[in-house]
Amino acid sequence: MRWALIGASTIARQYMVGAIRAQHGEISHVLSASAERARAFADEHHIPRSGNDLKELLSDPHIDAVYISTTNEKHLQQALAAVKAGKHVLCEKPLALTLDDASAMVRAAREAGLVFATNHHLRCSGSHRAVRGLIASGRIGRVLSLRLHHAVFLPPHLQGWRINSPDAGGGVIPDITVHDADVARFLLGEDPISVVAQMTSSGLGEGVEDSAMSVWTMPSGAMVMSHESFTHPFAGSGLEVHGTEGSIFARDVMTQNPIGSIELVTSSGREVICFDQHDLYGESIRRFHAAVAGDGEPAATGLDGVKSLAVALAVREAAARGVRIDVNYGDVR
Ligand code: NDP
Repeated sequence: MRWALIGASTIARQYMVGAIRAQHGEISHVLSASAERARAFADEHHIPRSGNDLKELLSDPHIDAVYISTTNEKHLQQALAAVKAGKHVLCEKPLALTLDDASAMVRAAREAGLVFATNHHLRCSGSHRAVRGLIASGRIGRVLSLRLHHAVFLPPHLQGWRINSPDAGGGVIPDITVHDADVARFLLGEDPISVVAQMTSSGLGEGVEDSAMSVWTMPSGAMVMSHESFTHPFAGSGLEVHGTEGSIFARDVMTQNPIGSIELVTSSGREVICFDQHDLYGESIRRFHAAVAGDGEPAATGLDGVKSLAVALAVREAAARGVRIDVNYGDVR
């Protein structure tokens, strides 16, 4: 599988180059808006080709797939161009800034018969899969509520467009609430119906929110509470799922690394739950490669990316207007 990277980004540098290679993918090209930055990235990671011309990159018949990790406003145009050139696409979240744009990307790939995936890494983790397994096997009975704790401190090297550029898709809601929406959907196997929310800027956000809290209504009647922030240095992350027969406490699991702990509490007592500690992004790539080879679906599909964005957009609208908002998932099924 031969990949091109669209975006000389931090996530590509820190995780995805290694993940692609660990899954025996070859990275043949990196694209940046700046030819100089692309060359520096290519040199650093021993990538043979670099440049700033998307059309030229996509005209290379040897490239099978692209990984898009530019700022969020660029995903749409780059994904549509890649699909038009017949490349499979792994796109970062949020897929786009609007539901229509995200839906258009997914629809285009589907019509072209190409694999389109969203890089929602949390559902690839052993910890989240273990929690999902506990719920699915009935260990906690009927799920009453899910609490998502995802208030972190945005490290200085990421405090650029995320905190000051609405045009680039900045703000904690497109950045982290989309992940939490995907986690809730993955764990509970259902899509939020409506949301109420508040958001604020608590020290970092300049023209975008840096903190959000929301409560989501689920079809089963379970309640979901979600908290995201860029300004909480010591809060720690985690999730709790509470059911009629037990509770699951997963600590430090809203993370990019295979860490954290899980405890199940029932009438029988407390039980530490072990889980697989594979690389989250490697698993995303493994499933993508398999999907391209005709073996199943990517870990998170394009539709998953559309739905997580739909929830995040509803959270932002609910917070902005101070009213309950029904989640609009659009017409992609
Ligand atoms: P970065 O800010 O590191 O990179 C985004 C873009 O910014 C790059 O593509 C690059 O543009 C440009 N850029 C990078 N360095 C510089 C620089 N020194 N000067 C000017 N421009 C620069 O973003 P992230 O890697 O944090 O995020 C990229 C995407 O990945 C986003 O969509 C984000 O939501 C997503 N993401 C997903 C994660 C996940 O776990 N799934 C985790 C982190 C991010 P160019 O390519 O033109 O050089």
